[in-house]
Amino acid sequence: MTTVPEYFGSLVFDSRMMKARLSADVYHSLKRTIQKGTKLDLSVANAVAAAMKDWAVENGATHFTHWFQPLTGVTAEKHDSFITPAPDGRVIMEFSGKELIKGEPDASSFPSGGLRATFEARGYTAWDPTSYAFIKGKTLCIPTAFCSYGGEALDKKTPLLRSMEALNKQSLRILKLFGHDNVKRVCACVGPEQEYFLVDKAMYDKRKDLIYTGRTLFGAKPPKGQELDDHYFGTIKPRVAAFMDDLNTELWKLGILAKTEHNEVAPAQHELAPIYTTTNIATDQNQLTMEIMQKVAAKHDLVCLLHEKPFAGVNGSGKHNNWSLSTDTGINLFASGETPYENAQFLLFLVAVVQAVDDYQGLLRAAVATAGNDHRLGANEAPPAVISIFLGDELTAILDSIENDTPYNGVEKKKMKLGVDALPRFTRDNTDRNRTSPFAFTGNKFEFRMLGSSNSIACANIMLNTAVAESLRLFADELEGASDFNKALHDLIKKTIKTHKRIIFNGNGYDDAWIKEATEERGLLNLRTTPDAIPMLIQKDNMDMLMAHKVYTESEIRSRHEILLENYCKVVRIEALTMADMARKEILPAVEAYVSSLVSVTTAKKALDAEIPSNYEQKLIKCLTTLVDTIDHRTDVLEQAMVKLDTMGALAEEAAFIRDDIIPKMCELRAVADEAETLTAAKYWPFPTYGDLLFGVK
Ligand code: ADP
Ligand code: MG
Repeated sequence: MTTVPEYFGSLVFDSRMMKARLSADVYHSLKRTIQKGTKLDLSVANAVAAAMKDWAVENGATHFTHWFQPLTGVTAEKHDSFITPAPDGRVIMEFSGKELIKGEPDASSFPSGGLRATFEARGYTAWDPTSYAFIKGKTLCIPTAFCSYGGEALDKKTPLLRSMEALNKQSLRILKLFGHDNVKRVCACVGPEQEYFLVDKAMYDKRKDLIYTGRTLFGAKPPKGQELDDHYFGTIKPRVAAFMDDLNTELWKLGILAKTEHNEVAPAQHELAPIYTTTNIATDQNQLTMEIMQKVAAKHDLVCLLHEKPFAGVNGSGKHNNWSLSTDTGINLFASGETPYENAQFLLFLVAVVQAVDDYQGLLRAAVATAGNDHRLGANEAPPAVISIFLGDELTAILDSIENDTPYNGVEKKKMKLGVDALPRFTRDNTDRNRTSPFAFTGNKFEFRMLGSSNSIACANIMLNTAVAESLRLFADELEGASDFNKALHDLIKKTIKTHKRIIFNGNGYDDAWIKEATEERGLLNLRTTPDAIPMLIQKDNMDMLMAHKVYTESEIRSRHEILLENYCKVVRIEALTMADMARKEILPAVEAYVSSLVSVTTAKKALDAEIPSNYEQKLIKCLTTLVDTIDHRTDVLEQAMVKLDTMGALAEEAAFIRDDIIPKMCELRAVADEAETLTAAKYWPFPTYGDLLFGVK
């Protein structure tokens, strides 16, 4: 197979393959299950399983696995081979409908946040037929949901599917009011842009911090960073280009629509964007993309860093979640239409998002909160931790005119009367793109930019889908009973703008003045760290909303709250221990060795002639020995704080102590070690520097 169209999707059991390999009856009942969620009976499942197995075996698979997304944030799989003993002592390859539909992995080692009692180790995986099975290596992977014995979701996919359902239900109510009786389904679509760094494997292997934590914990600023902006969209280096080539091929075989690739702002930083698709498939595919990026990198003696902030002082990596709503009849609900009526509908969906983001800022922020992402959000890098929406000047002016009944000063310079006047088309204005906004309207979709590069996109989309479903629910409740629909619609949009316009901000989100205005004048939340953001999950209004839409049960939310906090504590704990280890075993001995060489030079000079100057050596010796003492002292201090951390009981207390005490101590230790690096001869420094790592891949 040579051309892309020939091999695209060749490792996916997609609808083309289903049609080719299943009888018409089986194919149609499977399609019904996929489209309508009807129950699949066992005879159909058996036929599907047999066809899948034959296809997989022909493509070199020997095993199958239920592929799922536990709350660790990565994917999990337990492989079983297809082999079954045959009476003649040989084996045959078998796979039953039961094995396809349901699995029972031992769930005891996956985090459950208290959802599963220790005596109940079983968890169940259940086939999600809306996401196609695929082959990875020698394994047939079956995308599944993962739940406890009691039926509670232990994964990210189940709540995601529920949130899509909630959004579908409420959107349909609204569309009915606009006369779209033919629309049967509304789906949230996502195109996640994925940023990452590539570093040389041999250099990576010399850095314990990268190995244990995915980011550098030490490292002085190199003479050159990203200040020249010469990397962004720059020529792709041969090793990187070879990696990207291979990566595309692997992704295309898996039916992943990898579309755009380019260098990012920081040296060694790159981006990959797929073509958008249904949210749950986009989520599965993004998880796969991250996994395959790492595998393909290894083949090229590279390491793909997905951490949000692998290097201090240069940009970190995020994931832009491009999100829109579309109908099964092919309408994008965020595209402004041709007629005044379509525009009213567009504006209603638009203000539904404005209201959702304003009302549920806390949930959106919590959905992207991790120890790694804290280095981006709310640190000296974008986007800020304060959530606001960028709508652009044109759209903001239209909303203003609706709110105030004043003339709209756009093309037509007249009053905007909804349902009567046509709006101009909102083509994306490239000159007016605001990269500093955490949540931007970009012509016909919203771009939520706060996600960390290693995050699963599930959480952010669960919150976004459900919060918008809630706005639409309230809107539908109000409009369904209205005697004069047009008037009620106009009043509702106007009222929504008035109430929620504080969340709209078109200026520079990095500006300190904005943070002050946002928090002091507009009352927006500024949740700078994970321990600040996670409690939003269990705030009463937020929980009630998520439960009302049946996206989470109370215990499911509480379990996520606990797991996220616990993860934060574990991650920083590993970082702190790694720092102390590197300081003691690598940095201090290296600086000492260099000092000792300087001492020998001084001694030798003196032995030759007491008059030979050795000011240079003495000055350095003095400086470095002082630094050595400080590094040692600050390592002690950090270690003592870690001992104290171990005595703490409650998770929230532990997380707060990490935020307020451990992390500042880590920063202090790093500062002196980095200073020592700038004064120590290169050949003594024990691991590759920032310059080596950032510019080492040719
Ligand atoms: P950039 O933001 O880097 O300029 P684009 O805006 O062109 O890039 O596209 C970024 C991502 O947005 C891509 O993954 C693309 O598929 C996705 N995208 C485009 N249109 C939509 C849409 N209507 N809904 C969701 N995602 C979309
Ligand atoms: Mg973008």
